[in-house]
Amino acid sequence: MWTIRPSCPDSAQSMTEKPTLTVSIIGAGVTGAWQALMLAQRGHSVTVREAACEEATGAASRMAGAMLAPYCEAELAGRVVQDLGVRGLKLWHDAGLGAQWRGTLVLARPRDEADLVRFGQKTLGHRVVHEDEIARLEPELGGRFRWGLFFPDEGHMAPRRALSAMTGRLRSIGSQVNFSDPVPEPVWMAAGAGEIVIDCRGIAAREELKGLRGVRGEMAVVQAEGLGLSRPIRLLHPRSAIYVVPWGDDIYMIGATSIESEYAGPVTLRSSLDLLGTACALHPGFAQARIIEFSAGVRPAFPDNIPKIIKRGRRLIVNGAYRHGFLLAPVLAEAVANHLEYDEPLPDAFVLRNAGC
Ligand SMILES: Cc1cc2nc3c(=O)[nH]c(=O)nc-3n(C[C@H](O)[C@H](O)[C@H](O)COP(=O)(O)OP(=O)(O)OC[C@H]3O[C@@H](n4cnc5c(N)ncnc54)[C@H](O)[C@@H]3O)c2cc1C
Repeated sequence: MWTIRPSCPDSAQSMTEKPTLTVSIIGAGVTGAWQALMLAQRGHSVTVREAACEEATGAASRMAGAMLAPYCEAELAGRVVQDLGVRGLKLWHDAGLGAQWRGTLVLARPRDEADLVRFGQKTLGHRVVHEDEIARLEPELGGRFRWGLFFPDEGHMAPRRALSAMTGRLRSIGSQVNFSDPVPEPVWMAAGAGEIVIDCRGIAAREELKGLRGVRGEMAVVQAEGLGLSRPIRLLHPRSAIYVVPWGDDIYMIGATSIESEYAGPVTLRSSLDLLGTACALHPGFAQARIIEFSAGVRPAFPDNIPKIIKRGRRLIVNGAYRHGFLLAPVLAEAVANHLEYDEPLPDAFVLRNAGC
């Protein structure tokens, strides 16, 4: 049983009334931001402490697509991520934080169409679209692909805009969000009397969390004026599966590599060629795009690539969101809030087995 000490003890408080919690959240990436929002919206007193300045917050989150793609991701991640992710879609939808709902288009050049068949067999939530419907969905791609798969229920957003919308929302409902405020190690010492700490440090927690590893993801941001693509498009290829995500205002994110490495340094020449070459194969108009940024983020991941919620005294650790931090952050936040408020068991998939950490 998780013992909650109300921050404002009131002897008249009825046994059934929910106590107000005082919660300190470490890290304002998408995981921490959603934890904060979920608890603040339920009336709890929330402070967020973030090491980076406001413009650079979210070590991995800033680099994300950020696609909300439970069906496409099931190709590699399986049914657990799909089923939890469908709940994530609903929570983003209800939150109104700027997510777009235009679906995902998955395409392949004629010589790679076997990959499209395989992708379709391994995923649900799609329909086959032929040349005419591809042209209706994305006029600029008319005549370029014979057929593809359309996942109508998926979403996407511009992650940096979404993170700042979450900060704005938090402040507007009275939560404190402190940037350039690193919590020193050991972070559990950060807990004040009666306070619950939720540790959402991403890969920065790897020294403490045995089993947590980093998966490097390289990406490019380009400006392609007049291209007019309106939804995430994945171009399948036997060697790499690159996607393009419209972030609005003619800006596109081209992502992403997936390399077992915790190195967050500059993008390699080889990866940049793969990213930009695939974008040009999707549409030759990308050849005229201006490169705004090449970056790499490190996705935090546990061995099964499913995020985990770990309890240590008065601290909860939420980490390991891997490729699905945007998709699953609200689901993790909801599970934590229900657990704290009603002692609800955590979803099985989020419990770390064979802990060793
Ligand atoms: C290239 C790329 C593409 C991706 N695309 C997608 C996608 O399309 N869809 C999707 O759902 N997911 C995607 N992801 C995955 C997603 O970005 C991650 O799962 C998610 O960002 C993890 O978020 P986080 O908040 O746990 O960690 P982070 O975003 O890394 O945030 C952790 C925060 O904690 C702060 N911090 C660390 N130590 C301290 C401290 N001591 N005190 C205070 N603050 C501290 C850091 O400064 C940082 O801001 C992608 C990832 C990458 C790299």
